[in-house]
Amino acid sequence: MSLFAANTLTENLPLVVVAVERAVDRSPDGLTYALPKELAHLPEGARVEVPLGRGETPTAGWIVRRLAATEDPGIPRAKIKPLLAQDPSGVVLPGELMQFARWISAYYACPIGMTLASILPAAVRKAIGRIERTLVDLAPALVDGTGQFPRITKRQQHALDVLATLPRPIELGDLAEAAGYSSNEPLKRLVASGHLVATKKTSVEAGFIARAGNVAPAPTPTAEQQAAITAISRDFGQFAQHLVFGVTGSGKTEIYIRLLEECVARGTRAILLVPEISLTPQTVGRIAARLAHRKVAVLHSGLTEAQRNQQWTLLREGGADIVVGARSAIFAPIPDGSLGLVIVDEEHEPGYKQDSAPRYHGRDCAIRRAQLAKCPIVLGSATPSLESWANAVDRRISTLHRLTKRAPGLNTPKVTVVDFGAERREVRDRRVNLIGPTLREAMQRTFADGGQVLLLLNRRGYANYIACSDPRCDWKFTCRDCDAGMVCHVDESGAVRRSYVRCHHCLAEQLLPKNCPDCGKPVTVFGLGTQRVEEELTRLFPSLVEGETLLRVDGDTMQTAQHFHDALERFGKGEIRCLMGTQMIAKGLDFPNVRLVGVVSADTALALPDFRAGERTFQLVSQVSGRAGRGEKPGRAIIQSFEPETPAIRLAATHDFEKFAAQELEDRRQFQLPPYRRMARLILRHPGETECAERAAALHAALVAIARAFSVAEPPSAPGAGGAGAQVGSPVGSPAASRARTVAPTVEVRGPSVCPIARIAGKYRRQIELLADHAADISRVLAEARTQGLLKLGEELAVDVDPLSAV
Ligand code: ADP
Ligand code: ZN
Ligand code: ZN
Repeated sequence: MSLFAANTLTENLPLVVVAVERAVDRSPDGLTYALPKELAHLPEGARVEVPLGRGETPTAGWIVRRLAATEDPGIPRAKIKPLLAQDPSGVVLPGELMQFARWISAYYACPIGMTLASILPAAVRKAIGRIERTLVDLAPALVDGTGQFPRITKRQQHALDVLATLPRPIELGDLAEAAGYSSNEPLKRLVASGHLVATKKTSVEAGFIARAGNVAPAPTPTAEQQAAITAISRDFGQFAQHLVFGVTGSGKTEIYIRLLEECVARGTRAILLVPEISLTPQTVGRIAARLAHRKVAVLHSGLTEAQRNQQWTLLREGGADIVVGARSAIFAPIPDGSLGLVIVDEEHEPGYKQDSAPRYHGRDCAIRRAQLAKCPIVLGSATPSLESWANAVDRRISTLHRLTKRAPGLNTPKVTVVDFGAERREVRDRRVNLIGPTLREAMQRTFADGGQVLLLLNRRGYANYIACSDPRCDWKFTCRDCDAGMVCHVDESGAVRRSYVRCHHCLAEQLLPKNCPDCGKPVTVFGLGTQRVEEELTRLFPSLVEGETLLRVDGDTMQTAQHFHDALERFGKGEIRCLMGTQMIAKGLDFPNVRLVGVVSADTALALPDFRAGERTFQLVSQVSGRAGRGEKPGRAIIQSFEPETPAIRLAATHDFEKFAAQELEDRRQFQLPPYRRMARLILRHPGETECAERAAALHAALVAIARAFSVAEPPSAPGAGGAGAQVGSPVGSPAASRARTVAPTVEVRGPSVCPIARIAGKYRRQIELLADHAADISRVLAEARTQGLLKLGEELAVDVDPLSAV
């Protein structure tokens, strides 16, 4: 095609900016294309196909902006190519969602095309479960008698007569049935002959899948619940942050239900985020039962692809009042102007953070989404994240509502911390490894009383140390490709019990060697793992039989959401007496007959090289304890630990979150850690150690230069492109943010240093950390680095803003 032809082709055509679904950061926005005549109406938010690069490779992208007719595209018209087509899915994202995506792209430093691609579920893109219908009607010329038509048979005439009596247009198959045909073929001939006109209509079979549990009568709110409901309702119609802090069973869900009701009654829609793990039929059923006359859509990983497309389409078409879903449900395509409430339950859950680009935090995004929609955001937790706690208590940008009592009929479990080291020294029974006498006796008593037991150990596998038995030899089994120890697993699925080792980072597997490769002495395995607990349980309690009365619940046994749902159902029925597993069982479960909760080791999280180790330990211990005593009989929790005096454990046992939070915040303030400073972590990965180090050093130098340039320049008049001035967690329009800068860099660039796990799957890892008082300053540095083409996300670089992981 000649230049001239291209010129005439796009002259006068409307122009759009398209962001392609690639990791490339061409420019902050995207590339300019012309809309061909037949697509001239395409709005912002439409998914399209554009020719990319020299080869004009058809590439998926999104219209992120339509240029005004008078606007200068900044490149010669002749160079602008027409876009190829609208995506067959026909998807157009609502404007608010587009605005939200731009913020995510800027804040989390992820190209907008990639961000949009991750917002749209694959099932919707691939139109899975879409049905195509053919609707038919009588030809107008036949009706008014103006047309000439070929002759038809008597039966065909009969079909036309039948159709004349029916509401039209009608589905082809329905007409065939009404006219007594066994196939559609004779009718298709009527279409060919012009008697009938046919139109195609595609739709997604959209039904509600939230199944209501037993409809429970609504309890009368307690005074504390009512106070929270009243205060939050007052903010309907405007952005306001609320934190509902109450132990498990204090009635937070009841508050959510009342607010959801009110939001819908006002004619607006709501998003309720819950952690993936608690999206059990139990939770969803309870909410759906109480909101039985409302339309509740559900989004979680247990859905089939077709169901996901259904639920999404339903939401986009405005067919649902409420969406209950996991992290990504914050991207629910709620029609513009209709979002009236956002709720995040268990807001402290690390599972809200996405671990691939865009590495967004569902809770922080929820705050931003509510801000864009000008509606209230409600965060709820028994153990709020210190970020949210500081926002409520320190900065007072969010209103705190305390629920101090468990709902009527629920008891506070008595928590005992057992000094496991001391217990083991007393017992001196080599077979007692994991379940000490205190826990064992309590379990015995519980079983004798007909109660059920939950047992937590947050570590999969059989044992996590494999080493030489000779103390003079220092061989330890580590992964060939990772800087990490191998974990021993036992496979009992076959005829013989087989021990093998697996790396939990790259998933490499090998048989367990009998002898040390260095000195030939036997190999020993020690440490902790759920499989080993299972083994010890069946030895200690003959009544516990794995798969019948005992069930292990971890990532290895629960491969799909269905397995997990089945397990919970069997536990609910009482068939299973003891449920043992990882943190999967620590959260959200509500079984009245659980009278004892045991934590095999509270120390697993403490060992992590992470400043949040204490916070995680507190959360885990209190969450799991809260699972006991949800029925009439009192509940009890027993926590085994080698470090029983650790404040996180001691304060969790006495249910004293506020004291723990105060101490922990003091430490964070002193060490200048989040939430007092904001952080971004850049991880460089490369198979060559030298290359990795060199690239890290170069990127570090460039970031230092950018940070320095900003600190001497004038302060920004407005937050960076696309609203990068994230206000999440920092006071909206805080005076400090607009104070004139001093010359000392406002963004500290730390590193480069070797990551705590120095190598994973054969790749060396180096990190750079950015720290600043305000998120907006970090955003500015990242935005400039992107503009300079320094941040190409992918195998070799990850950018993690507000990171939760420190490894
Ligand atoms: P949370 O979400 O804080 O764990 P829930 O809202 O699930 O607490 O409440 C725990 C239990 O107490 C539920 O069975 C709920 O139906 C019941 N409940 C909640 N509020 C009340 C109330 N005001 N009166 C009586 N029962 C209540
Ligand atoms: Zn490995
Ligand atoms: Zn050895």
